[in-house]
Amino acid sequence: MNIGFVGLGIMGSAMAANLLKADFRVTVWNRSPDAYRLLEAGGAKVAGTPRAVAEVSEILFAMMATPAAVESVRDGAEGIIAGLRTGSGYVDMSTVDAETSRESSRLSHAAGGLFLEAPVAGSRKPAEDAALTIMAAGDRVLYDSSLPALEKMGRKILFLGETGNAARMKLANNLVMGGMLTALCEGLALASGSGLDTAQLLEILDSGAVSNPMFRLKGPLIAAGTEFPAAFPLKHMQKDLRLALRLADEIGQPLFATAAVNELYKSALAKGLGDEDFAAVCRVVRP
Ligand code: NAP
Repeated sequence: MNIGFVGLGIMGSAMAANLLKADFRVTVWNRSPDAYRLLEAGGAKVAGTPRAVAEVSEILFAMMATPAAVESVRDGAEGIIAGLRTGSGYVDMSTVDAETSRESSRLSHAAGGLFLEAPVAGSRKPAEDAALTIMAAGDRVLYDSSLPALEKMGRKILFLGETGNAARMKLANNLVMGGMLTALCEGLALASGSGLDTAQLLEILDSGAVSNPMFRLKGPLIAAGTEFPAAFPLKHMQKDLRLALRLADEIGQPLFATAAVNELYKSALAKGLGDEDFAAVCRVVRP
């Protein structure tokens, strides 16, 4: 199958690499050309524009930073929609709001194509290990034909119904994650500020009901105050909190804790921590 991949950041480059390893014929595009090099060496073809990727692909996957980034590769004369053909598919795996997804769906259908939104849970390592959780919604026919490729990127794959459902589900997931990480930062700050051993706090958390892989992975690094490479950039977590709060506004759902958590992430952005891992929000909690 001819597969396209647009958006080769932290996640997209690892996901495209797994498709290549699985012997799909993969054509890629990214705004910054540096991102191609490894994939090209692994056998990927490089196209000149998102449109050119769509023109040679039965299914095109995209993994973009933000709703604005989705629009910038989707729309216009050189965009993905301009290259869709009757029956070809556009699968957007970026974390965006439901409105952006519905517009992608509308434009794909108007061009004779099919659309699926398929945001993911899981960070750099699960992307490399093809162990992502994939939340898909939209055209069921495209879900079925994409499944062999989705299975090379994810371990748990769910079909959630109509376009917009997966986008909203992903925001609910990340709201929980952002809040949990903030609670961990505050617990560690309280422990270390009052002279307790943070390693012991992590051990106690890990042995009880709140034990989870994220605390296990990030807890020791936060406690040690070391730098660690961005797996999930802080700027993307703040974008997800912003989109979750906007959705909550639309439906009249109060999100008391998330509103406060979002302010912390905004402060971290203002301190220039946007490109660091989202765990860097701890530096706002305890500078
Ligand atoms: P990333 O490393 O920042 O990559 C973002 C991609 O978007 C890059 O290919 C970047 O191109 C492109 N891009 C940004 N603005 C653009 C624009 N205006 N025009 C064209 N291209 C643009 O992000 P990521 O971590 O891979 O995340 C991608 C998406 O997955 C985000 O929606 C994020 O919220 C979501 N996600 C991330 C994780 C994670 O742990 N990292 C986990 C789950 C979901 P350049 O290379 O040229 O900058």
